[in-house]
Amino acid sequence: TPVILWFRKDLRLGDNRAIAHAVTTGRPVLPLYIHEPNNGPLGRAQCWWLHHSLVALTRSLERLGSRLLLRSGPPKAVLSTLIAESGATEILWNRRYDPEGIETDSALKAALRADGITAHSFPGQLLHEPSRMKTGTGGFYRVYTPFWRAFESSGEPEEPLPPPLALPPPDVWPDTETLDDWHLLPTKPDWAAEFRNVWTPGEAGAQRRLQDFVKAGLQGYAVRRNFPAEPHVSMLSPHLALGEISPAQIWRATRVLAGDVRVEDLTSLRKELVWREFSYHLLFHFPELARRNFSEKFDGFPWRNDPEGLQRWQRGETGYPIVDAGMRQLWRTGWMHNRVRMIVASFLVKDLLIDWREGERWFRDTLVDADPASNAASWQWVAGSGADAAPFFRIFNPISQGEKFDPDGAYVRKFVPELKALPDKFIHKPFDAPLPVLEDAGVSLGKTYPLPIVDHKAARERALAAFRGLAGPS
Ligand code: FAD
Repeated sequence: TPVILWFRKDLRLGDNRAIAHAVTTGRPVLPLYIHEPNNGPLGRAQCWWLHHSLVALTRSLERLGSRLLLRSGPPKAVLSTLIAESGATEILWNRRYDPEGIETDSALKAALRADGITAHSFPGQLLHEPSRMKTGTGGFYRVYTPFWRAFESSGEPEEPLPPPLALPPPDVWPDTETLDDWHLLPTKPDWAAEFRNVWTPGEAGAQRRLQDFVKAGLQGYAVRRNFPAEPHVSMLSPHLALGEISPAQIWRATRVLAGDVRVEDLTSLRKELVWREFSYHLLFHFPELARRNFSEKFDGFPWRNDPEGLQRWQRGETGYPIVDAGMRQLWRTGWMHNRVRMIVASFLVKDLLIDWREGERWFRDTLVDADPASNAASWQWVAGSGADAAPFFRIFNPISQGEKFDPDGAYVRKFVPELKALPDKFIHKPFDAPLPVLEDAGVSLGKTYPLPIVDHKAARERALAAFRGLAGPS
């Protein structure tokens, strides 16, 4: 009888424990992907990614003499049908660690076992299980640095597994749906047109991205990772988000490179991977991370209801070039540089006083790397309401941040081309440029580029006053 290999957020063949186990059974394998109602937890940008990733996975499986079965519906119903059709008695999958994933896993396991089906789940989305790290008193970590220290002293993550050489097919393949039935791609307008130039979804694309980064970007990462116009970040996050590459594979690259790349660059990359782990650790212990303030003190925060401000932020029309460049990079490519994510998030929450959950929701729908843990944890970090958060009074100044991290305006010029001809001195503050300078550059504020929707200094004071109004200790 065959075993069912259920793919979820692990769309890869390498370092995949469920696959490795399937091979050891020596039985025919039925690889399956289930499209959940309403796209499960995925936003629209990630649906685009998923479509292409499933195409890539199908091809890789075909090279092993196998296929990928596509079925849609609630997982329990789909699995029961396939079990009845195929006579399978065993189901294997890799775990998800978001609250819905955990809930599905435990309910499914109980139901399948009650039906006499063996259900096995495996780790692999993280370097360590999110429950593994415990404080001295047995609780969970709320602060990153001690979490990192505990992580460092808890032993090296396991070596990644090689991909299988073949997957035995069943005698008869059950029916499959087709990807086109799922309508994962945008139709009109085709907002993903530019995604194709930037990304190659799939395991091979992920491995290539890692190799390119290791060759050309990693040296200097510790410092240059803050400069959005420079090629010093890996852009691996969307591949990680759907599990096309495992964190253990990236970690291994940092180990192999020891000696060739400066230690501070390797450590810095490891620390970022551990921020991802920390986010999952927080989500595991506080499943409402995307919905509720981690710090209750913020529950009474006087957020403004400002649909127009929210829309101007979403469209990249705030009048602050670094903010607009970031929001347009997000819309055009489905991704935004980390430094700029912090700047735009601070702008929404502190300059516009709009609830961080609005930002979290927009990112979830537009990011190809939308991640239930990192997105929620990072928004709460910026808002000041999170665990180990930036203090609320630390408000990013969009002008000086731009001047510091995009000193020649290359990033702004790329995504806000209407400001292209402005001299460097004014690229981050066109509103301070004398009229003749604007005219020379073909910029007409309020017409070709918006005037600032808020005055940053005044907005900063407003935010601090709102914060002071909160009761309780900070
Ligand atoms: P690199 O610098 O190359 O880092 C390598 C990997 O480390 C990343 O792919 C990522 O998995 C991890 N990592 C790096 N920085 C962080 C971080 N601050 N927190 C957690 N993990 C990190 N990241 C997501 O993957 N999904 C999200 O939905 C997401 N939402 C965010 C929202 C806000 C408001 C902010 C400020 C940050 C968010 N991040 C999110 C974290 C971070 O911005 C991205 O992980 C990073 O920009 C991805 O680019 P990269 O792969 O080139 O990163």
